[in-house]
Order: sequence, then structure tokens, then C-alpha cells
Amino acid sequence: MLEDVKNQSLQSQQQVIKRLQAIYKRQRIGHAYILDGPNGAGKEEIARYFTKLLLCMEPKENVPCETCNSCKRIQSGNHPNVMLIRPDGQDIKKDQMVNLIIKMTKKGYEEGRKVYVIANAERMNSSAANTLLKFLEEPEGNVTAILLTDSYTSILPTIQSRCQRIPLQPMNREGIMESIIQQGVTASMAATVTMMTVDAHAAYELAQEDSFVQKRKLVLKLVQAIEQQSQSEALLFIQTDWMPLMKEKSDCEQGIDLLLFAYRDIVAVKAGLQSTLAFPDQLEFFTRHSVKNAYSSLTVKIDAILQAKKRLHQNMNRTLLLEQLVLTMQEGLLFV
Ligand SMILES: [Zn+2]
Repeated sequence: MLEDVKNQSLQSQQQVIKRLQAIYKRQRIGHAYILDGPNGAGKEEIARYFTKLLLCMEPKENVPCETCNSCKRIQSGNHPNVMLIRPDGQDIKKDQMVNLIIKMTKKGYEEGRKVYVIANAERMNSSAANTLLKFLEEPEGNVTAILLTDSYTSILPTIQSRCQRIPLQPMNREGIMESIIQQGVTASMAATVTMMTVDAHAAYELAQEDSFVQKRKLVLKLVQAIEQQSQSEALLFIQTDWMPLMKEKSDCEQGIDLLLFAYRDIVAVKAGLQSTLAFPDQLEFFTRHSVKNAYSSLTVKIDAILQAKKRLHQNMNRTLLLEQLVLTMQEGLLFV
């Protein structure tokens, strides 16, 4: 499983892999690189792949063999010439850099190239960054640095100028879903949050928010109220359940967006397209309503949601706005 996920990162970053292979093929290996891309894009996997390639004892056609002693030790994190630095608490500290430099310049280790990887390089504090900068200015021996960051502009410009920047490709929705599922988010929640944002880190954070989990549930109840309840029951639901949880305008906007995605899902289910659902766990519930609703009725409902979203930005009273939305959507059903 884990192996598959890693391959997925490498797969989705084929251009970056090719670029690294070309660097290796020409044997023009730089002193320092910055791999720059969003969280979850597979920066560590790519850095590990490049490290293996640089140190592999039997690479074939610019691909590390994965079976030699060197590849195996890099995979398990035990290669004496390879070092990975991560933030110690909030930041990367000067003594971490000092230790790194001692290790990278020490004689008596294995022959050959040394490689160090700095994860979250943007979190080096200023004394750590200045220590690293000195080392980058006066490289000793056969050493290659790979800095990883999701915030290139937060890296000291003097460090940037000493490194070759290798930007990662933006991830598609499937890639982000896979990455946050790997971090423990359920598949159905991953499908929902990746509709809300294209940033892997933001998607992960959103999935961790209790209030978002509540909103997701509430929106499904609202669909139920619109589709199955009487007008007065649906309006009561808005007052007693919906409004207390949607206090701020931003909450309300998230709620309306989720409602829009729910109805788009119903349309997709009706059309037989199931691969892109925002609520894949609601397939059965949505199928029932996709049968009950004609396309024309679903169009009316989606238009009403889009209108409500516009009115939200015109600062209309939010209770009134939701009540009108529910009534319009229920009437849409009557016109079928
Ligand atoms: Zn190898």
C-alpha cells in the first residue's frame, strides 16, 4: 500500500523525475537544489529517489536499481552518507545545521557523494539559515543539498540564489485525495474537502475541523429536508439546526457550496457519472433523489443555490436568504 502511494507521487511528478534523470545523465550534479511544491506532492519521495540515483551502485538507464546495498540503505534511512533534517519543534535550529555540516564534511565515512535533505526548509531560523548559507558558499567535498519547501518565497534570497529551483507540478484532485487519505482522512471526507480547495494542506486542515465535519452532515440533512419534508418542517430546520451552526458569513458560504456540490452530485448520478462525486458515501441517497428529480427540476435547484451564493455576497439577511432558498428549491420540485 505504502509502496503504491510513493509510486503515485513519482507518477504524478514525471516531468520532475525526468529533469532529475537528465541532470544525472549529464553528470552535471549541482551543489544544491530546492524542490518546491505543495504539501502532499511527494517532495520527500522525489528527494529519496534522486538520492538513490546519485548513490546507486548499479543504476540502469538513469534509474536507481532499488536492490543494491546503497539503494536499500537509503530506503530504510540508514545510509551513512545521507542525512535528513526536519524541524525540531517549530523551526530548524542552528545546532541541527552545525551537526549536519560536521557529518557532511567528516572524513572516514564511506567514499563517494554525500547527500542531505532539509524538509520544510522555509522553517530554518535565521541563524540556521546563515549557517547553511556559509556551507553553500564554500562547499567542501562531493556534497549535494536537497531543500524541500512548500513556500519558496520564504527561503532567504541568498540561499535561493545558491540553489537550482525545481518546481513540482500542481497536483490534480485525485493526487490530493490520495495524499490526504494517506494522512488518515477518510475517502468520503477527502472527496468533499478536495472540492472546497485545490491546496493539499488546506484540504487536510479542513478535514480536521470539527465544524466542517458538522457542516457536511448538516448539508445532507438539508438535502433531506428540501426533498422529503414539508415547507414548514424545512423552514424549522433552517431556524433550529442550520442557522446556529452557520453563524458567520464564511460558514454560510461553505454551507451553500456544500449544498451546490450535493446537487451537482445528484445530477452526476442521474447522468451515470460517479467518479467525481463530492459525497461518494451518499450514492444510495443521491440515487433515490436523482430518480425523483427531472433534469429541469435539478437545474432550477442549482440555479437557486447559485443565486443564493450571489445574494450572500450582497449581504442579505442570512436567515431570510436560506428560507427563500429552501422555498424556491421545494417549489422547483412541484414544477416537475
Ligand atoms: Zn541501487
